[in-house]
Amino acid sequence: MAMRNIREDGDAILLKHSRPVTDFNRRLHTLLDDMRETLLAADGVGLAAPQVGILRRAVIVMDTNREELSPEEQIIELVNPQIVSADGEQTGQEGCLSVPGVYGIVTRPEHVVVKAQDRFGKPFTVEGTGLTARCFCHELDHLDGHLFTEIAQRILTPEELEEMNGEQE
Ligand SMILES: [Zn+2]
Repeated sequence: MAMRNIREDGDAILLKHSRPVTDFNRRLHTLLDDMRETLLAADGVGLAAPQVGILRRAVIVMDTNREELSPEEQIIELVNPQIVSADGEQTGQEGCLSVPGVYGIVTRPEHVVVKAQDRFGKPFTVEGTGLTARCFCHELDHLDGHLFTEIAQRILTPEELEEMNGEQE
C-alpha cells in the first residue's frame, strides 16, 4: 500500500466526471488499498478516487455509527455507487479533505440507501444515517465533479471555526 496525494480545490480534476469501473482487477484493488491508507492518515471520514487523481467511480466511506469497529474496519468500499433512495433532512457542518480548513453548512438527506459493487464486482446495498448518509452523498458528488462548497448555504467564519476547534479539545 502507498499513500497518494490528495488533490486540492483549484485542481481541475476535481471538477471532472468519473467513468464507471469495468475491471475489478489488481489495479482497482491497489487503488482502494491506497485510498484506505490515505484516508486513515488524513483522519478523514470519506475519500473519492478523483480526490487522488483517478477518474473512476470508486469511493470509500467510514461508517462512524459503528463505534465497536476499528477505523480500518469501519471503511466501506463502494464501486460504481448509486443512491437508490433518500429520505429525511439534516443541516450541519461539512468539510472536505480537498478543501482544507474550510467548513460550510450543508443540507443533506438524513438517511440514504446506496447500491454499489464491492472490489470483486459483487453487488450489495448499504444504508447510512446521520454523518454516514452525509458522507455517502458528499463522496458520490465527487464522482460527478461537485464539491460541497457549491451547495453550502454558507461557509463558516474564522470565529466560528475557532469556536469549533475549541470544542474539540
Ligand atoms: Zn470531499
